Order: sequence, then structure tokens, then C-alpha cells
Amino acid sequence: MCLFCKIIKKEIPSNIIHEDENYLAFHDINPKAPVHILAIPKVHVDSFNDLTPDMMAGMTTFIQEITQKTHIDKSGYRVITNIGENGGQEVGHLHFHVLGGAKLKWGHFSDADPKNLI
Ligand code: 5GP
Ligand code: ZN
Repeated sequence: MCLFCKIIKKEIPSNIIHEDENYLAFHDINPKAPVHILAIPKVHVDSFNDLTPDMMAGMTTFIQEITQKTHIDKSGYRVITNIGENGGQEVGHLHFHVLGGAKLKWGHFSDADPKNLI
């Protein structure tokens, strides 16, 4: 069973912030921003590659609820999902990073010249 499935089953503890029948949100163990939450489906999905439009629709509302609950909806935030090797995905259970609480830099792209990346 994957790491996040174990978190869903509460076999591994996590700091849960929001939950409904289909989705779970908990604080990232290694936060990259004052607010850094992971939103995941309760059924195992490997990555965004396998996400259905129906599940994405539910996830949209769920993430909006998270941002309201943590009071970052008005100040602004970022939603990221890393996919596969080049996307930097480390945990093989679909998750959306919800980052906010401070003015975010343009992360890994800030020092990259796209002309050198082709
Ligand atoms: P990825 O690199 O796959 O997009 O993101 C995985 C995220 O999961 C990372 O930000 C990492 O800090 C977080 N993470 C890894 N293991 C755990 C854990 O056991 N508990 C929590 N809460 N977060 C974790
Ligand atoms: Zn899983």
C-alpha cells in the first residue's frame, strides 16, 4: 500500500485539516510555504494522468474549501500537482499542493533560462 493510502487509513499519522467522503487534506511534513497542504483523493490514483473529470470536479470544490478554511482564498495561493519523473513527483498517489500565506516566488523557474532548457 502506498504512503498516502496509509495516511488515508490512519496507519500513518498526519495533521488533517479537511476531509469529506472522497478527499483528504493534511499539512505537508516539509512545508515550502506558511500554508502548505496536500489534497488527495481517498481512492488510489497514481497521478493527474489517471484523474477523471468527475474526480477533478470534486477536487476543485474541495481545494476551494481548504483555501477558505485556511484564510488564503483572498490573499492568493498556488495549486500544483507534480506528475512523474520530469514533474518531480516523489509520492505515487495523486496530490495537489496548496501553497499560500506569503508572496510566493516562481520556484524552480526563477533562475532558469528557458532557451537553455530545450
Ligand atoms: P511530490 O514531490 O510527490 O509532489 O510531493 C510529495 C510531498 O509529500 C512532499 O512535499 C513531502 O514533503 C510530502 N510528504 C512526504 N512524506 C510525507 C508524510 O509522511 N507526511 C506528510 N504529511 N507529508 C509527506
Ligand atoms: Zn495510494
